[in-house]
Amino acid sequence: MDIQSSEPVSHNLLSVETYEPLIGSEAVERIMSKAERLNDLHVINVNSTYYGGGVAEILSSLTLLMNSAGIRTGWRVLQGRPDFFSITKKMHNALQGGEINFSDLKKDIYEEVVFENAARMHLDHDLVIVHDPQPLPLIDHFRKKAPWIWRCHVDMSRPDPELWSYLSGFVERYDAVVLSLPEYAQKIDSPQRFIMPAINPFSTTNKDLTEDEIEDRLEHYDIPTDLPLVVQVSRFDKWKDPAGVIEAFKIARKEVDATLVMVGNVATDDPEGQEIFESLCGCREERIIVLSVQDTALVNALQRRAAVVLQKSTREGFGLTVTEAMWKGAVVIGGNVGGIRHQIEDGVNGFLVDSVEGAASRIVEALNDHQLRNVMGHRARETVRSRFLMTRLMEDWLDLIGSFEAHFTLSGRGGTSH
Ligand code: UDP
Repeated sequence: MDIQSSEPVSHNLLSVETYEPLIGSEAVERIMSKAERLNDLHVINVNSTYYGGGVAEILSSLTLLMNSAGIRTGWRVLQGRPDFFSITKKMHNALQGGEINFSDLKKDIYEEVVFENAARMHLDHDLVIVHDPQPLPLIDHFRKKAPWIWRCHVDMSRPDPELWSYLSGFVERYDAVVLSLPEYAQKIDSPQRFIMPAINPFSTTNKDLTEDEIEDRLEHYDIPTDLPLVVQVSRFDKWKDPAGVIEAFKIARKEVDATLVMVGNVATDDPEGQEIFESLCGCREERIIVLSVQDTALVNALQRRAAVVLQKSTREGFGLTVTEAMWKGAVVIGGNVGGIRHQIEDGVNGFLVDSVEGAASRIVEALNDHQLRNVMGHRARETVRSRFLMTRLMEDWLDLIGSFEAHFTLSGRGGTSH
């Protein structure tokens, strides 16, 4: 289907040209000429959730932008039962440094569900991009003719060795591995590339909102605005340290008056979220608000209205919530880990912290200093404009996909089959 010429046209895909006021005409032309070389290529992405979490957020924008530039880019979501996702969440945790008892039974369930997905997926594209560990073994079930890329988004600075040794058996069959940061590089034979994620500034999560729109969203959830807002937006996940956020807030409020708002959602591939949310509900007070909702406009409104945004993660592959808040000119106090360190320069465009006490004292400092918030917020937005917009991510992908160009010509476009 050629979506651009279908009638009647009531919606338009966001194009690279839309970014011109933010990135300049030269960048637009450069990206479009790279896309032109790959025109009509058929690319497929496979991940494991359609919403909730950074991967879905990126894919929902990037796949459309690629299509608008003439690259036929699809997105399939792995289907799995709760027991499958419970296993893959344990794997995710263990890749980030947690523990796992990876029994044969768990391996069997993992491999069986991926096999069943492979049987009904019919991947005959020019290029296959598989995201994260959930669909990783798909590659075992295809006679591989096209390049396959594994794109892993998790913080891989200290993966569980046993689990990694099992997974690397699949990983090494891929033609390239894309990780978010050089410090996540692994000892494997496949070529490794490093691409940091990015945001779509025109999405519901990030687009400009009027004051009335912001008020409306906050009122809808009875969020008071009489005191400054301290906000953390995150899936309910132990690595986001929600308990540490509450602790830091309680220390800070001995010196400043504020309201803490924690908003999270529960992704379909993350069965631990509900339990973590429930464990936080006992901490609710008049000035500590904990909400579990899937409302991207609320995320936007909160990041815009917040006096301070926290992302107190103890592991963080990249941390799109940091990028999103920085784009809105917020001062972000982020955990000194993973991708957060590549976005925040401590004391320049935000703060990096290593402890609950450190977070508390930065909350106090930021809330007491309006001028500091303005200056840092301004720099934060500029950081995102210059390094973390979706067009930069698209260009990185075009460069990587383009590096397989000889293969596309040789294979005559038409790659994989059972
Ligand atoms: N998000 C959301 N609602 C929520 C919590 C998170 O829409 O209640 C979005 C958030 O705006 C961001 C993504 O989910 O786009 C989270 O990405 P991030 O890289 O910060 O963390 P991940 O969940 O992938 O670990």
